[in-house]
Amino acid sequence: MGEFDLIERFFKRPVQRAALGVGDDCALLQPAPGMQLAVSSDMLVEGRHFLSTVDPRALGHKALAVNLSDLAACGAKPLAFTLALALPADDAAWLEPFSQGLLALADAHGCELVGGDTTRGPLNICITVFGEVPRGQALLRSGAQAGDDIYVSGTVGDARLALEVFRGSLAMPQEVFTQARARMEQPTPRVALGLALRGVATAAVDVSDGLLGDLSHVLKASSVGARIEAAAALGLMACVDAPLSPAQRLDFALAGGDDYELVFTAPPSARGRVKGAVAHAQVQVTRIGSTTAAPGVQVVDAQGQPLDQRFGSFDHFG
Ligand code: ADP
Ligand code: MG
Repeated sequence: MGEFDLIERFFKRPVQRAALGVGDDCALLQPAPGMQLAVSSDMLVEGRHFLSTVDPRALGHKALAVNLSDLAACGAKPLAFTLALALPADDAAWLEPFSQGLLALADAHGCELVGGDTTRGPLNICITVFGEVPRGQALLRSGAQAGDDIYVSGTVGDARLALEVFRGSLAMPQEVFTQARARMEQPTPRVALGLALRGVATAAVDVSDGLLGDLSHVLKASSVGARIEAAAALGLMACVDAPLSPAQRLDFALAGGDDYELVFTAPPSARGRVKGAVAHAQVQVTRIGSTTAAPGVQVVDAQGQPLDQRFGSFDHFG
């Protein structure tokens, strides 16, 4: 199968909203009047972001999910994406499920594949997504005010749990591992929540590298600090039955990474509107603390005393 046959067979589909899709030198997008384009890229490299043994269908899903998660964090509605793919071989048995996983998630979000690039090389998947947001309404990292509530959507820490089992550093009962593995391999981008939080959240970020690490980007951009309640953070993992110590549970929840949940801030006066947004998006959120005028992050116990354990986040160059 040649490069063009491969594109034709697995990635070329009739255009829906874009003015021009796959097949010419450029795709053409037509944002609606008054809208800004939100653009983000994420690359997945074999051995770094996924294991060679991963199910290609799940990989297709995840490659787009991590990109949609960035649109969600900006409150942008998905429009289109491009796919740059380096493949070791033109293996239809791999491409078929990969493209199915990818395009099923794309269809679920009305996000169309409009172009890309295909080359032979070590497996590498780079997606660029385009979304739209009314001018001036994007959720930024820089809008948090001291005294805002801090929330996180869904559950965090489970992908890290699965990674540790894969690495052999932890053993888990099979059903716990299955649950954790699903969170690692098939994250759910919180697009509806991001849209519902426009005009409600003061700042937002998606959790890719670890809750505290990603939150720290918001804190820095907003010139505030944070107090995180350990009791709330302890309840953030989906794998409630995992045999973990409280310290491990806290570490995975606060610094695990690969979660693709949203962390956002909103003033206490907006609690009712946050509740409304959450109900509308049909996703659970947990209030885990508040921003502070003093810089830095403190994780505190039920008595408000700082825990002296240090939390980092997953840093690719660390
Ligand atoms: P060019 O040589 O102009 O860069 P290519 O020959 O690389 O164009 O690609 C031909 C067409 O197929 C282009 O419209 C490009 O956007 C599209 N394309 C290439 N690879 C992919 C892919 N993996 N998924 C979707 N579209 C692709
Ligand atoms: Mg090209």
